[in-house]
Amino acid sequence: MQDFVFHMRMPRVVFGAGSLQHVKREVEAIGAERAVVLSTPGQAALAARVVELLGQHAAGVFAGAAMHVPIETVHAAEDVVQRVDANCLVAVGGGSITGLAKALALDSGIPIIAIPTTYAGSEMTTVYGLTEGGLKRTGRDAAVLPRCVIYDPELSLGLPFATSVVSAINAIAHAAEGLYAPDGNPVVDLFADQGIRKCAAALPRLQAEPRDVAARGDALVGAWMCGVVMGSVSVGLHHKLCHTLGGSFGLPHAELHTVVLPQALAYNAAAAPEAMRAIAAALGAESAPAGVFDLAARHGAATSLKAIGMNESDLDRAAELAMQGQYPNPRPLERGPLRELLQRAWEGVRPS
Ligand code: NAD
Repeated sequence: MQDFVFHMRMPRVVFGAGSLQHVKREVEAIGAERAVVLSTPGQAALAARVVELLGQHAAGVFAGAAMHVPIETVHAAEDVVQRVDANCLVAVGGGSITGLAKALALDSGIPIIAIPTTYAGSEMTTVYGLTEGGLKRTGRDAAVLPRCVIYDPELSLGLPFATSVVSAINAIAHAAEGLYAPDGNPVVDLFADQGIRKCAAALPRLQAEPRDVAARGDALVGAWMCGVVMGSVSVGLHHKLCHTLGGSFGLPHAELHTVVLPQALAYNAAAAPEAMRAIAAALGAESAPAGVFDLAARHGAATSLKAIGMNESDLDRAAELAMQGQYPNPRPLERGPLRELLQRAWEGVRPS
């Protein structure tokens, strides 16, 4: 039995196929009337649709968001926000867009309405990140938590299947680490269990039919639940490794999750047996690490660092970096075993 403190802060959630139509109502519900719509260039058409739905409440649009929230992009978006004196940010897109909205809200306190189109889960957390001079700094601040999240499964119908797989496993990683977090609680465990179940079960259905709106809905509900977990408790070795490898070796964020999660779980398995049983059960697998590995492999995702462009000669430095800074993890961090973990991740060895 674990002692715990329960305190959850969650945005209002509006879920449903076609729920994008409620965006104007939700802007009005938070007492705002001048919204700036944020998107990437690739989703500018969707941003234009949001502008149309907002009618007189659409004050501006910034469709220049980029990955990892570069400070230059934040300044460019800030210009638009200030010029129109916006009192609401409507962020439509993946984690990169939510990240931009969070960076804007951090200093200004302008409320965010998030409309996620991937399974990254950032909309449920107070975690923000900003890249300046090649370095990504992250932190937590209540000001960046969206006031409302609109989950519309129709908006992810066109998310390529390969992106859907890595994004769903990104979500599963939040929940898996939540299950062994030292600040966990029984409610978070429920969200983690259901989140993993829904994301994992949606993948074979999406493989058969990527435009299956019910499967998209399940994946999105799962992503919401996994995001709640990450927003409520601390994360451990897996997230630290992904952050280190992504930041220092320029590896793709989402693919890293599919490669690293099985190996991070294998590293922690003996130190967190209850969490492993829960993850395995939610995946319908015999073991948590092998279950995640098979889920990724079955759906065509990368399972090795080699396949996503990492040089073997960088593994020693990666192990050094992963040892820096303390963070909660069920098994203490030891350089030798961590180096072995990275070797297996590089080779893509299925955890036994
Ligand atoms: P992303 O937002 O960069 O999107 C990936 C690509 O998919 C982009 O090119 C985007 O335009 C496209 N895309 C998005 N939705 C689409 C759709 N429905 N149809 C077609 N294309 C679509 O990637 P992501 O995986 O959503 O988010 C990753 C980022 O989020 C990372 O920077 C990560 O650090 C951050 N993140 C932050 C938190 C947090 O709590 N702060 C949590 C998870 C992830």
